[in-house]
This record gives sequence, C-alpha cells and structure tokens, in this order.
Amino acid sequence: MSIEENLKKVHTQIPDNVRLVCVSKFHPNEAILDAYHAGERIFGESRVQELCEKQISLPSDIQWHFIGHLQTNKVKYIVPFVDMIHAVDSLKLLEEIDRQAGKVDRIVRCLLEVHIAREPSKFGFLPEQLEEILKGEEWKNFRHVQICGLMGMATYTDNQTQIRQEFRTLRLLFDQLKVSFFTQNENFRELSMGMSNDFQIAIEEGSTLIRLGTIIFGERDYPATT
Ligand SMILES: *Cc1c(COP(=O)(O)O)cnc(C)c1O
Repeated sequence: MSIEENLKKVHTQIPDNVRLVCVSKFHPNEAILDAYHAGERIFGESRVQELCEKQISLPSDIQWHFIGHLQTNKVKYIVPFVDMIHAVDSLKLLEEIDRQAGKVDRIVRCLLEVHIAREPSKFGFLPEQLEEILKGEEWKNFRHVQICGLMGMATYTDNQTQIRQEFRTLRLLFDQLKVSFFTQNENFRELSMGMSNDFQIAIEEGSTLIRLGTIIFGERDYPATT
C-alpha cells in the first residue's frame, strides 16, 4: 500500500481530538512529501542532524516535532524552528532549551518524558522525580519554554494488559500534575503516547498525540553507521 493509502486507513482509527505525528526518521524526503501532499503537517524526527537537513529542504509550514533523546549540546540547532520537543528528561535540558530559545526570541513547546515502561531505559523522569522538580521554583522562571504535557513509551511487548496499565499510569500522573501544578495553565494538555503497535490502546487511555512511523511509512532502513 502507498503512504497515502496507509494514512487514509490510519485516520479512520483516530478520533478528532487526537493529533497524528508522522514519524519520518530514516525515511527520505520523498516519503515525507507523499504524506505532506496527503495533508499531513506534523512530522517527528529523532536525530538532530537528520532533522536539520530535512527542515531546510522541505516545506516551511511543516511542524517539526523532535521525539528522540536530545543532548544539551545540540539544543541550539533545533530551537530556532522546532514546534515541539517531546522527550525532555532533565531539568538541565529544559534550562538549556529555555536559554537557547531566549537567544532567538522564541517560546518552545516541551513535553516531559516519563519512564513508564518496565524495561530498563536511561531516559525519562520517574514520577516522583517529576513531582520533586515541579515543586521547585526553577522551572517557573523559564520564560522561553512552555510545558505542554507528558510523553511516555510503553514496554515493547505483546502483553496488551501491561501496555494499557502503563499508559493508564501516565494518564493518572498527568491528571495529578495538572491539578497540583497546572490548574491555571491551559497549555498543559498534551499526552504524547502511542506508536504503531499500541496506538489504539493509547487512544483509549487518553492520548492526544500519537507518534506513528512504521504503519505509515513501512519498515525503516537503518543506515549502516549512526
Ligand atoms: C521511532 C519512534 C516512534 C515511531 O515508532 P513506530 O513503531 O515506527 O510507529 C515513536 N516514538 C518515538 C519516540 C520513536 O523514537
């Protein structure tokens, strides 16, 4: 099936209140343009250099979401144009995004990544760490970032019950943080969860942003060296 047909099919499974991030990492510009011409405007990338190369050569009304792990020393390359950074996993990173966004006079939308999966990962806050940070004053002084919600990845497993449980945990944490720290803040409203293999469950559990790659573009060809 073509990218256009894949998108058509996927959209029948996405309610209006959920937005689609087309994850185009490792796919060429032609594939992105196919999706673009089918009406998509939000694209997700996970490597800084690849994102920068694509951004300069593709239509300027694309909203680029950075969904991968971001190193502080690379923040400056994407901050001038990026629409949303999904996986902020330290206060230090948030601070650097704020600093670099200040230099180019932008406000960058960010999601805080929460470690919900039962598999080990170096990335993402533990719920208690997140609470600890939000209780502090530091983030409240950041003028050039907007904290728009949470992002999480479920364990890579066939166990649907476990996946649902993990998404539910993230949703509950979102609700809790909303009440405790963001009651007056209407920007805190996004829950980025759900990939090709688990997006239906994510939607049922309250996702507002799903990040789909394989189901739209097919399998990725990983470059020989990364
Ligand atoms: C690659 C990636 C996706 C898309 O995964 P698919 O299984 O191809 O849909 C989603 N989120 C993140 C953070 C990714 O790195």
